[in-house]
Amino acid sequence: MTIEKIETFILKDKLSKSFFFSQWEYSERCICVVKITASNGQHGWGEGYGPASILKAGIDFLKPHVIGKSALENEVIWNHLYRKTLDYARRGVLVASISAIDIALWDLKGKILNLPVSTLLGGTFRNKIKPYATGLYFIDPENPSKHFEEEVLEYVNRGFKAIKMKVGLGINEDYENIKKVRNIIGDSIQLMIDSNHAYSLKEATILAQKIEHLNISWFEEPISPEFYKQYNELRSKTSIPIAGGECEYLRYGFHQLLRNNSVDIIQPDICATGGLTEAKRISALSSTYGVELVPHTWGTAIGIHVALHFIANLEPIPGRMKSPDFFIEYDQTENGLRERLTYPKIEIIDGMIEVPKTPGLGIDIDENVLMEYALSDKQINIL
Ligand SMILES: [Mg+2]
Repeated sequence: MTIEKIETFILKDKLSKSFFFSQWEYSERCICVVKITASNGQHGWGEGYGPASILKAGIDFLKPHVIGKSALENEVIWNHLYRKTLDYARRGVLVASISAIDIALWDLKGKILNLPVSTLLGGTFRNKIKPYATGLYFIDPENPSKHFEEEVLEYVNRGFKAIKMKVGLGINEDYENIKKVRNIIGDSIQLMIDSNHAYSLKEATILAQKIEHLNISWFEEPISPEFYKQYNELRSKTSIPIAGGECEYLRYGFHQLLRNNSVDIIQPDICATGGLTEAKRISALSSTYGVELVPHTWGTAIGIHVALHFIANLEPIPGRMKSPDFFIEYDQTENGLRERLTYPKIEIIDGMIEVPKTPGLGIDIDENVLMEYALSDKQINIL
């Protein structure tokens, strides 16, 4: 069975209200998804993380190297695409284009073999994953945390047991905001913070030490992802676990983070870092260092489902009879593409999401909704 067709779609959702974080403002969501069809008519879906038009150009460039190949040989195809891009793109959007293709191939393989992706990965160590809400972005520049109370209570009411908030506005303002959120949620809900690399080592150290008493589960991307040794230094100055890796690519990138003892938790984005094929290798690498892995997710429910299957298969380290819950990131910002594109819908029951047992990723795309959001070729040309 061979790969017959690869189609890309750029989907755009204009937000009803813009929001911002430490780096820039979002007024729309724009995502590239890919559909790969095999010679027997079955198809799989993938998604890339990064600028959609560049991702699409990357997939178009790679297409001739995938068409005609066996639909079941995802690892061989991955290696071929890696070799085709290695000289120009050892990290960045071309790797994300490979990721989108790779994910679609895993979905397709599962559908052809009538098995869920988690089974193809080697099986499920857990059938339920604990979602944490990613939210508390900033809306009003004059009073960025005005809506925090209302938003955080909504997450609690929906059953989330953990919440990640944005920081990076400045040490004092962040401190006040973190204190405010901790006061609202009390001690029983886990709280993480994410600065999206807004701080210098000195600033991140001051902030981390100031919030030690607020029971923070992790401080994500405190400093620029390039400064591996500074991450390590920060770890030596705070008891708060340090997380990072959403801007990292391939096992080689993660090896930098791991061998420098930069983080307590690595956060590969499967839709960017090389797809499931490479994420599986990254998890083997992190296990050799005894470092926890919680994937980064952002985008449509395709990406969330890829992460669900992947997390279900993560080796429990250390092993023990009563294994702790494993986290999945569940972004809660406005995003019609996450909510409407796929079915069945994601459900949180008793604070957990069940890993699908149906073939492939366990979802399909509502192609009417897809066409509602898809840009035409003419619109893509002027992006
Ligand atoms: Mg982050």
